[in-house]
Amino acid sequence: MRVLLVEDEREMVELMTVALGRQDILVDHVRTLELAKEACRNDIHDAVLLDRKLPDGDGLALIPFLREARAGIPVIVLSALGTPDHRIAGLDTGADDYLAKPFSVDELLARLRAVMRRPTRLEASSAKVAKLSFNLADRQAYIDSVPLDLTRRELLALEILVRRAGRTVARSALEEAVYGYVDEIASNTLDSHISRLRHKLAPAGVEIHAIRGLGYLLRAAP
Ligand code: CA
Repeated sequence: MRVLLVEDEREMVELMTVALGRQDILVDHVRTLELAKEACRNDIHDAVLLDRKLPDGDGLALIPFLREARAGIPVIVLSALGTPDHRIAGLDTGADDYLAKPFSVDELLARLRAVMRRPTRLEASSAKVAKLSFNLADRQAYIDSVPLDLTRRELLALEILVRRAGRTVARSALEEAVYGYVDEIASNTLDSHISRLRHKLAPAGVEIHAIRGLGYLLRAAP
């Protein structure tokens, strides 16, 4: 599972990254509403964890935007604004859940599992192209039910390509998915990950097609 954490307090970010990381949940972090909107456009997250008091406004302002861009994505608000009125405002704006800070990480994990169990999420929990299947919940790829051995970066690249199979994934979106939002990267490293992925995916009857100047597209080989 891969979550987007919208949070501006460094300590909170570190705590969450470590605690969720222990459960094999990958955390991408942005600290403003503006960056959150950009990150959501990439369509690579399974859930959003949303703080309210952000440098550029109330986190709740992100929810209508999310509902338009990614209607079904679970959103859990994590906020020090914890009165019943605050919670009601959050849920009425469209949050799936609302946890007041401070909260226990175990409770957050339980609530995350609960929102992910809802039927609308399950439909999208696995993606399949030719003999390749990708389980989005445990982030594992298989060819004919045999687990595929991938490096972390190969896995991140494959995940976004599979989620958008048959559509072009922009180079910039792939780079963000593979390297996160902070790292500086050399321009040719993405291509070398893609080239190794192609090799590993060949037995699955899947090809990664380069769209010159735009990005890559994953599809069943003709
Ligand atoms: Ca804050």
